[in-house]
Amino acid sequence: MIEKRILNARDYLLIEELVEWETKVKDIIWIIISSKAELYAKQCYKKNGVRPPNGVPGSASTKSLRLDLRMQYSALAVEYLNAIDNGIHRNEAMLTVFRMYWKLNFNIPKKTKIKASVWISTTRNINCGIEELVTCYRCSGKYLLDSNVIQLNSDRCIWCNHLIPKHIFKNSIKTKFA
Ligand SMILES: [Zn+2]
Repeated sequence: MIEKRILNARDYLLIEELVEWETKVKDIIWIIISSKAELYAKQCYKKNGVRPPNGVPGSASTKSLRLDLRMQYSALAVEYLNAIDNGIHRNEAMLTVFRMYWKLNFNIPKKTKIKASVWISTTRNINCGIEELVTCYRCSGKYLLDSNVIQLNSDRCIWCNHLIPKHIFKNSIKTKFA
């Protein structure tokens, strides 16, 4: 149940920023933790002349996703986990990392940009162990793996293109020995 908390000035600014990133309205409600965010988010989308994105959240580790995009999600996931290690709250880390990305990549064409809502669902998946950041034994590069995506013997590291061994997810170990 999402509460109907009255929005404050900080919430309004954050909603405007999230709309600029083209975040899904339901993600905006989840981040602001108030159903009142919906109306303002929709107003902002209308004002910007942009249709709010919807549909099921994509995965940053989908194999059909362009390699440069998968690299960017994995690089951000490294930053995200570093921020959490440094004591930053999950949501704050998720927003800070994307904000940095957005500022650095403001001028690049939309199709070469990663999506805010995919990023948000990626951080949620990392938090609950559905996705993991795995280190390549060959190049030490880190790449995201999704436990819902079937691993093949032909899968390659996004950074060095070396074949990667089958990864056993921490969650699957937990369920096996629980
Ligand atoms: Zn590698």
